[in-house]
Amino acid sequence: MTDQAFVTLATNDSYAKGAMVLAKSLRDHKTSRKLVVLIGPHISEASRAVLYKMYDEVRLVDLLDSGDSANLALMKRPDLGVTFTKLHCWTLTHYSKCVFMDADTLVLANVDELFDREELSAAPDPGWPDCFNSGVFVFRPSIDTYSKLLQYCTEHGSFDGGDQGVLNGFFCGWATEDIGKHLPFIYNMSSIAIYTYLPAFKEYGSNAKVVHFLGKTKPWSYTYDPKKKTVKGNVAEASTHPTFLLEWWSLYSSCVVPMLHHEHGDQPFDYGCSSCEEEVLQAPPPTLPIPPTLSSAERKQRWEQGQADYLGTDAFDNIEKKLAAFLK
Ligand code: UDP
Ligand code: MN
Repeated sequence: MTDQAFVTLATNDSYAKGAMVLAKSLRDHKTSRKLVVLIGPHISEASRAVLYKMYDEVRLVDLLDSGDSANLALMKRPDLGVTFTKLHCWTLTHYSKCVFMDADTLVLANVDELFDREELSAAPDPGWPDCFNSGVFVFRPSIDTYSKLLQYCTEHGSFDGGDQGVLNGFFCGWATEDIGKHLPFIYNMSSIAIYTYLPAFKEYGSNAKVVHFLGKTKPWSYTYDPKKKTVKGNVAEASTHPTFLLEWWSLYSSCVVPMLHHEHGDQPFDYGCSSCEEEVLQAPPPTLPIPPTLSSAERKQRWEQGQADYLGTDAFDNIEKKLAAFLK
């Protein structure tokens, strides 16, 4: 299957870590498709070298440099920088069909059957299920579609400021036209859903094939102790969310860290996460920084932007207590 590929995007070294773990998880589950990563110009040499080893194709997308319609669109809408970079996946016309996966996704089983689906197939967004989540989607590369997407972007912008808003506006028939384009939620199970519908997670969570670490806190934002195999900041005792986080860290520390070390030789290398360095890995894991106290209005705003502090103040237990107090 050389004309079909999984595609991801990493514009900086943090997301590159995610892309590395994603590639490792796809290979571990024996995908028969090619792996492609789009990278931005700010990725370090060491990260690039590792990505070259793990991916079949590494494509640099420097929109500012490109002089094409994307550059033009970017000048009109500088706020949509990363969005335009993601849309670049439609230019991969040497593939007949692709599956885009965010760099913050992790594959738990072989998902090659996604290639049986048509453009644009995606799973519902847990926050607004009439919109699809753009963390995992099936598409057909086409310069024609790419140009239309860019034009749509410049004319209509993005209602959420990112690619998900643009893509939902452009593929607006998704919600109602063809149920075959609705991917089951197990192909893009966002970790936030665990907290918003815990009973469903308990019933169906074990079927998950792709977990999506959607939101502000990414797996690489935590710290890990490879000796004890624990992730620090793991406060949600009742859910299995930490299991996925542990799976991510287990792949990262066993496969990615040695490759990054190898690329970097004896030079100190900033992994962007202190716990990834061997000396620190052996020390007791540092405690998480205490988040600044937010006003009720600020918390509400964050919640509405999908940034619930669901391991802290907005944890399921706290919500349950609040509801119980109201009901009394
Ligand atoms: N991304 C990137 N650099 C950035 C932000 C995003 O490369 O600075 C890419 C990356 O592939 C990421 C995707 O765009 O997974 C979507 O962003 P993110 O996952 O942070 O959004 P969320 O899923 O949390 O809404
Ligand atoms: Mn994501």
